[in-house]
Amino acid sequence: MTIYWDRCDLCGQYRPTSKCSLFPEIMVDVHCCFACPHREGKCKTPVWRVETLIQPQVSRKGLSDREKEKLLKELTTLLKTG
Ligand SMILES: [Zn+2]
Repeated sequence: MTIYWDRCDLCGQYRPTSKCSLFPEIMVDVHCCFACPHREGKCKTPVWRVETLIQPQVSRKGLSDREKEKLLKELTTLLKTG
C-alpha cells in the first residue's frame, strides 16, 4: 500500500490518500474512507483501516546496561552448569 500526499477525490482536501479498494479509480483520504457507507457492506477491505493508523507500539522498557550484564552473567552461568 502506498500512501502519499495527494488530493482526496471525494472531498477535494489535500491529505494523504490511498487508492480506494472498492473504486480503484478514485483516491480517498482517511476521513472519507471512514465515512464511506460501503464500509459496512460491499467494501470488505477498506484501504484505510484502524490497523493502518495505529502502529503497534513497542512500549516494553529496555533493560539498562547493568541489568543486561546481570542477565547475561546469569545466563552464562546457567549454560555452564547445564
Ligand atoms: Zn476526503
